[in-house]
Amino acid sequence: MVHTSDGPKELNVHVADGVITSVGMNAAPAGAKTVDASGMYVLPGAIDVHVHSRDPGFPQKEDFGTLTAAAAAGGVTTVIDMPNTVPAVDADGVLESKAALARGKARVDFGLWGLIRSSSTPAELEGLAAAGAIGFKAYLGYAFSRSRKQVRSSLDLDDPDLEAPPDYGTLARLAPVIAELGLPLAIHAEDPAILGAFRRPLETYADLLAARPAEAEAVAIAAAAEIAGSSGVRLHIAHLSSAIGLAAAHELIRAGAPLSLETCPQYLWRSAEDFAKVGAAMKVFPPIRTKGDRDALVDGLAKGTIKIVATDHAPHADDEKAASFDDAPAGSPGVQTLYVSCLELARRLGDVWLAPRWVAEAPARLAGLHDAKGTIAPGYDADLVIVDPNRATRVRPKAMRSRQRHGALNGLEFGFSIKEVYLRGSPVSAPRWSARAAGRLVRPARH
Ligand SMILES: [Zn+2]
Repeated sequence: MVHTSDGPKELNVHVADGVITSVGMNAAPAGAKTVDASGMYVLPGAIDVHVHSRDPGFPQKEDFGTLTAAAAAGGVTTVIDMPNTVPAVDADGVLESKAALARGKARVDFGLWGLIRSSSTPAELEGLAAAGAIGFKAYLGYAFSRSRKQVRSSLDLDDPDLEAPPDYGTLARLAPVIAELGLPLAIHAEDPAILGAFRRPLETYADLLAARPAEAEAVAIAAAAEIAGSSGVRLHIAHLSSAIGLAAAHELIRAGAPLSLETCPQYLWRSAEDFAKVGAAMKVFPPIRTKGDRDALVDGLAKGTIKIVATDHAPHADDEKAASFDDAPAGSPGVQTLYVSCLELARRLGDVWLAPRWVAEAPARLAGLHDAKGTIAPGYDADLVIVDPNRATRVRPKAMRSRQRHGALNGLEFGFSIKEVYLRGSPVSAPRWSARAAGRLVRPARH
């Protein structure tokens, strides 16, 4: 069964030179290599628009090799990497060196976000766009270390090395430039003033929820959307985590704001009650909240208000995560289980074929890749995933290819398994994967 834009159909997919040449009932030409996928699903490769390769900067946490091995194993054939590697991707030269480094290691295709600093200039953003950035990310409330070229969560603004975080003023100043470039502006949407007012030591999971209340998300979304509305920039909300954040965004979308929403499997499958069994692997920012928040997000996805599921794959070394709850860094791996978790959720919502829309079609539009990826149709890259709908996947640390093996979804079982994965026609998943790292930089189409 092949996922096409007209729904699932029993068809043959023909591929030549890495590109889909036809989708239909035609028999394979004589001598062609064939793959029998009867009884299986044939889906477009997923595009995870929110991953952290940690490369360059934190090789003990992850690098492009381990990130993309995990991606390939999970049916993710394109990853879009966040810019808070070190040095942070705040100028064209940094983006070019990062792309060169990834090219030698990546097993799947990759795109790169550029970073917005409070000091970013229009010329820097234009340079990043020319170098291939798929869009720009602003970390509201996160400072920047000038000496280490690093995005920092520290709020100690007396430190002369720290440049002030980007704020709504930064967004208002740069949104028209980004709109002109035709690229999306993604934000980490937690209002810094609200986080500042509720700051506290984190001893328990309840402290984490109290320290990062959902109001912070709703306020940041509303403020940024006002700015997006007046400049026309496409505003993208990363990792939406709350019912009231969703409600705020829903109102704005109805009123015509150019807003896209992304949530992540950890917010769709977990709630605060799970902390007792999952532990610090569940510590992520924004936090995994109540069952009510989780159900609202699932409903938002079912109704199409939320169109994108990405992972915020953010690994740390296992010993870092084993520190006290307050000291353990926030983040969880997730790229390897994106597809199977979404297929299971979509099936429970009554239409399993929604999953490729959340992880392939809608992400391709956000990233400007919708002429080449995210769809099974002639002319598109042959990024194909064969899924067995009768074999379950249990999330086990041992099976994970990311450097951090313990993640927020540990122990869950999804009723699908990834059988084979092809990147531009070549197998990239075990056991048939090639040893060569064939991943390429993807650039957004300029329309
Ligand atoms: Zn992130």
